[in-house]
Amino acid sequence: MRIVLVGPPGAGKGTQAAYLAKNLAIPHISTGDLFRANISQGTPLGQKAQEYMRAGQLVPDEVTIGMAKDRMEQADATDGFLLDGFPRNLAQAEALDGILKADGLKLDAVLDLEVPEDEVVKRIAGRRICRNESSHVFHAIYNPPKTEGVCDACGGELYQREDDSEETVRKRLEVYHSETEPIIDYYKAQGLVVTISALGKVAEVTQRAMAALD
Ligand code: ADP
Ligand code: ADP
Ligand code: ADP
Repeated sequence: MRIVLVGPPGAGKGTQAAYLAKNLAIPHISTGDLFRANISQGTPLGQKAQEYMRAGQLVPDEVTIGMAKDRMEQADATDGFLLDGFPRNLAQAEALDGILKADGLKLDAVLDLEVPEDEVVKRIAGRRICRNESSHVFHAIYNPPKTEGVCDACGGELYQREDDSEETVRKRLEVYHSETEPIIDYYKAQGLVVTISALGKVAEVTQRAMAALD
């Protein structure tokens, strides 16, 4: 299956993607995680991305599309994938269609996670991620690690993302509404969108998502 996950920052995309990718036995591809890994390794790509991420803006398409394409090729798109955080604007959605079409492939579904803005703000305010592996995600209140500040999965140090500050979150929500939401209509026109509520427990949301994708 080839699936795109959309939803505002803090909706729970990364959290759900980890479970869904496991259930569906497909790779989880997160452009945010890829950028953060490049930043921590100090690569040229990371250096290009960093200033945009700090400001809560989208990293330019020239950088993002190439990175996503490379990662999909590495995964072998014929096996399927779960894209988390890509595409994030219409140009990226069109580029993705082109990449798939070149291999005679298509998306199967676009899963849209719906969450009210006040919940998103609470989820982001408590988000803590692991220095070793940014897909290891916790929440100070809703999903606390067994030992404060330490990742349950690998023992890494937990920290708050620099772009999870209140001011940057406001900017990211603005960018989501103006640049990312239009891709939902683009995919609706292709009959691909399934919308679910991302409220409730993590496992409940996963169940809802699995039922919607069935
Ligand atoms: P969240 O899960 O909170 O929405 P992500 O980890 O997906 O955040 O993304 C963090 C930042 O990385 C974004 O604010 C943006 O700067 C950059 N980014 C991630 N994916 C993309 C993309 N597809 N296009 C442009 N920028 C991106
Ligand atoms: P996104 O990738 O969409 O930005 P994350 O998966 O990183 O979102 O989740 C944002 C924060 O909300 C994390 O701290 C995560 O632990 C927490 N979270 C995820 N799903 C839920 C849920 N169903 N209920 C409460 N908190 C959640
Ligand atoms: P209850 O009191 O009904 O048992 P919980 O204590 O399990 O509820 O959850 C309280 C809050 O934490 C809810 O908003 C729920 O969505 C969230 N939550 C529960 N488990 C997780 C998790 N693993 N990651 C993130 N958030 C979670």
